Amino acid sequence: MSRTLQLAEQLISRPSVTPDDGGCQGILGERLARLGFKLETIESGPTDFRVTNLWAVRAGAVGAESRTIAFAGHTDVVPTGPLEQWTSHPFTPTHRDGKLYGRGACDMKTSLAAFVVAIEEFLAATPAPKLSLALLLTSDEEGPGVDGTVIVCNALAARGERIDYCIVGEPTAVERCGDMIKNGRRGTMSGKLTIKGVQGHIAYPHLARNPVHQFAPALAELVAINDAGGWDAGNEYFQPTSWQISNIHAGTGASNVIPGSAVIDFNFRFSTESTPESLQRRVHQVLDSHGLDYSLAWTVGGLPFLTKPGELVEAVRKAIHDETGIETELSTSGGTSDARFIAKICKQVVELGPTNASIHKIDEHITVAEIDPLKNIYRRTLDRLEALLHV
Ligand SMILES: [Zn+2]
Repeated sequence: MSRTLQLAEQLISRPSVTPDDGGCQGILGERLARLGFKLETIESGPTDFRVTNLWAVRAGAVGAESRTIAFAGHTDVVPTGPLEQWTSHPFTPTHRDGKLYGRGACDMKTSLAAFVVAIEEFLAATPAPKLSLALLLTSDEEGPGVDGTVIVCNALAARGERIDYCIVGEPTAVERCGDMIKNGRRGTMSGKLTIKGVQGHIAYPHLARNPVHQFAPALAELVAINDAGGWDAGNEYFQPTSWQISNIHAGTGASNVIPGSAVIDFNFRFSTESTPESLQRRVHQVLDSHGLDYSLAWTVGGLPFLTKPGELVEAVRKAIHDETGIETELSTSGGTSDARFIAKICKQVVELGPTNASIHKIDEHITVAEIDPLKNIYRRTLDRLEALLHV
């Protein structure tokens, strides 16, 4: 039986819904400790939402040209949803039709197993590498994410520790392992807009001011900007910035009352062509030009990041090609990930993991035939990065 599969099953059988680690970091840490890794557990968060983070590092042969590669990921999983809808228990790894079923099979316990086995194999073949190796794990990626990877990154930054390359094991493949990697992610920024009106009787509109009616022309203008790709045109790596309303609330529930205010929630997913400031300025311009009485609270959830083709992207691309014959596609699509925190302390970050079709779903699964190739891609990437230090 594949050692990666075996370890993945061991992890899946540990229930670890956010922020629970379920002992997964202990299992992985023990394997790494045997290889000479130094382990550091960083707990964070309130007692009723305690997050466990692990930073494990093994220094390479010292030299000015030494480089550190970190594998990063999360041991927590999303809730199972109704148990009766699962064909087999989500925390009992089960094989059917060449697939391994269980919560976390794709997102992302198999990647974690593949990281560790790839490192084991790499060190067996190269016992004294120049490359420094590291693993960064959190149990809060699927939750609020405030006590997880960002805490470890801040601690590393405060100590002046450097990461040169990082591979995040998020499931990025569309149909086959290796067909897509993420070399960046869009930024996310939310706004909560309150349009202030004057409440009154529907029959006496001259004594009231309807915030919904007042907002309508501004809404039309914002939608028109969005539909025309008017925030920015994107670039070689990013789609144009997009703006979407998620909620609109107004009204008392009665049909004869003009509401006193309207609350609109919206979100930007933005490219590196825009900044939070440039988008905020634009929205305020539109609202101000319509003479609205409003307040607007902004929350920047994450800045966009981009790793342009360079040492890491090339090493990963070649590793994928050598293992699978696939020319991988670079993408920055999809939601945010913890890579946004890592990108602040590491210039080259990519996400590479298994197919993502069943993540967060009932009956989450991974194709068993995809597991060893994933481990081999990680392993081949290590070989290629090590080779760069020997030229
Ligand atoms: Zn994930």
